[in-house]
Amino acid sequence: MRLVVDWDGTITVQDSLVQVIHRFGDPAILAELEPRVGVDLTLHEEIAAEFAAITAPLPEVVGWVLENVEVRPGLHELAAHDPLVISAGFHELIEPVLEREAARLEVLANHVDARPDGWVVRFRDQAACATCGEPCKRGSLAGEPYVYVGDGYSDRCAALAAERIFARDALATYLDERGIGYEPFEDLRDVVAALAT
Ligand SMILES: [Mg+2]
Ligand SMILES: [Zn+2]
Repeated sequence: MRLVVDWDGTITVQDSLVQVIHRFGDPAILAELEPRVGVDLTLHEEIAAEFAAITAPLPEVVGWVLENVEVRPGLHELAAHDPLVISAGFHELIEPVLEREAARLEVLANHVDARPDGWVVRFRDQAACATCGEPCKRGSLAGEPYVYVGDGYSDRCAALAAERIFARDALATYLDERGIGYEPFEDLRDVVAALAT
């Protein structure tokens, strides 16, 4: 079965978008907008507003990401399962980390145009999902059963449609609150070991 894995906070130890906002953007915007996602803002609207406040050149941010973004143990073992990485983040910040790790994975993510007057996010999929009402990861995964591995808000709708869910952090809390079963994980070796059973 297809293995689908979130990037930030799932493959990476911390959410690299949040790390980049704290280093190069305005954390006050993050603090103000994050609680409004799913209330009066879509995730896309939140991300677009947060990155519009970043004006640093892309090579500088990529260099910082390469020095500061860590991946969880087990990425190479996970790569052997030929996963699809699906992210609300950007190819421009994901691919260099995969290259650093010498991991070749298929990635579905957004693009960013790092303009000096504020980054502009080019979202891959703008269509509102029929289930959750905002553009989400589920739409890209329709048609084939899959195992989903995730940690956060952007994973909720896609995880609910999965045959099997691995969850941590906010996604685990969300599923707990709804009484939906999942397998917890701390690092990617946990996922790989469970897949073998
Ligand atoms: Mg995540
Ligand atoms: Zn959805």
